[in-house]
Amino acid sequence: MPAWKGIIGKGFTASDFSQYVTTVTFNAWRPQFVVLHNTAVPTFAEWHNVPGEQRMKNLESFYRDTQKWSAGPHLFVADDLIWVFTPLNTPGVHSPSWNAIAWGVEIVGDYSVEPLSPAVRQNAVSALATLHELMGLDPSTLRLHKEDPKTTHNCPGSRIVKADFQSAVLAQIGTNEHRPGAVSA
Ligand SMILES: [Zn+2]
Repeated sequence: MPAWKGIIGKGFTASDFSQYVTTVTFNAWRPQFVVLHNTAVPTFAEWHNVPGEQRMKNLESFYRDTQKWSAGPHLFVADDLIWVFTPLNTPGVHSPSWNAIAWGVEIVGDYSVEPLSPAVRQNAVSALATLHELMGLDPSTLRLHKEDPKTTHNCPGSRIVKADFQSAVLAQIGTNEHRPGAVSA
């Protein structure tokens, strides 16, 4: 079993998240793009039945003890907070072809059936803009998990539209109050 990498397990508002990322030290690993997911389970309707801190502990148990993986995705984005799960400066486990080269961002909900709420969408756009700005990535490189030829399931659901997120992230980049600035390669 690969060694579990541990989690951050903290939730941030969008503006606090843009500050948090500037405190993360990037050494050897630099992601090249972001892979977008949805949690499917739990659904968005279920998410707040359990406090976020407990959600993080439950997800840690799932990825570490049930899946026996070394890590999970990097972020879980809800309507209120952006939760950092796997540390942003190490590869996660979320998309078989791209784990070594991409961040994994989970939008909380099952978007094959649930409506995407404006609050969830805005937090996701903001989190993605922060990540793209931090690493100097172009939103045109954003990928959906289901575009991974090695994936086995339809993630995220069809209500997550890649072009919509790419244009919204592009519009958001540069509008954050505190620009972290791109990390030079
Ligand atoms: Zn996925």
